[in-house]
Amino acid sequence: MSDRVELRQVSKVYEGVTVVETLDLAMKAGEFVVLLGPSGSGKTTLLNMIGGFANPSAGHVFIDGEEVTDLPPAKRPTATVFQDYALFPHMSLANNVAFGLRMRQVAKAERLTKAAEMLKLVGLEGFGNRGVHQLSGGQRQRVALARAMAVEPKVLLLDEPLGALDLALRRQMQEELVRLQRRSGATFVHVTHDQEEAMSIADRIVVVNKGRIEDMGPPDRVYLKPASLFAAKFMGESNVLGGRVVEAVGRDLKIETALGALVVPGDAATGAAVHVALRPEQLVLAPTPDSISLGHGRIEELSFQGTHCRCHCRIGSVDLILRAPVSACLTPGRDVALYAARSDVVLLQR
Ligand code: ADP
Ligand code: MG
Repeated sequence: MSDRVELRQVSKVYEGVTVVETLDLAMKAGEFVVLLGPSGSGKTTLLNMIGGFANPSAGHVFIDGEEVTDLPPAKRPTATVFQDYALFPHMSLANNVAFGLRMRQVAKAERLTKAAEMLKLVGLEGFGNRGVHQLSGGQRQRVALARAMAVEPKVLLLDEPLGALDLALRRQMQEELVRLQRRSGATFVHVTHDQEEAMSIADRIVVVNKGRIEDMGPPDRVYLKPASLFAAKFMGESNVLGGRVVEAVGRDLKIETALGALVVPGDAATGAAVHVALRPEQLVLAPTPDSISLGHGRIEELSFQGTHCRCHCRIGSVDLILRAPVSACLTPGRDVALYAARSDVVLLQR
């Protein structure tokens, strides 16, 4: 199957500053892609180059194999949901949703039928005659979504669309977005800086930093085996230790770290500077057949989180964060031994 969206050797320079470095990025038909990165990393710029709201400084954009690099937004098979919804306050909800169809010269009866269908799809059946001011934030968000979906885009671009919603509503909308995407078969490209949101909705996460792609893959792979230090830290909490490769030990590497020598799987040259990363939930209090010892330490701080206890544990000069089961009944001052499964250890070279 050919790609739905393809950015080929695309870059963007604003006023002499490169905000998107030359990159390639392809997305499949029916794929839910999330662009994840901190503020200013270039996510909106990437989205705008797909939607036609920004022109690449170099490179080419293709949709279903057709070059769209120089086409305006209205000539592309894309639709965009902006963070601020941008609904028309003086229009009824039905006319808001039908707006894109009116621009495409669709007859009135047909566009109102479509608008009613779209409002139903987003759970606002029968709301067509209401005004924008009568809606809650979550309902406005749904109308913006219905309006974008009404033109049946091949690619739906969503720029932090849930940012203004409270947590419960955001979770609900995340599930609805996934359902909508599966039903429509469109490719969704969703921008967020929230790693939990990215993990809960994406088929594939693209981690963006300083206009570059740091990592790209299914959520579980990016979380468990991040490709870079940035990706490891941005995809949730991680214990990261600096180290140096001392020697190869069979198929493993001996790494000198602040916790002493750790023998872990990995691939790096002797003498190379590396980082060892472990998620808080990967640190355990008892050895297993596959584990390495991280040493003995003391619990310094602890907070009850319902499903687990989040603890700071000091081993020598190193502060480690672990998620201990509530049943371990840890208390500050307790001496513990920490272990990690060898297969959980991530060795990073960049
Ligand atoms: P993100 O969406 O990840 O927060 P953006 O793509 O909006 O990042 O911005 C990336 C960088 O490009 C930022 O440094 C921003 O200030 C700059 N930038 C974005 N749009 C423009 C513009 N129209 N003119 C000049 N600089 C811009
Ligand atoms: Mg942005």
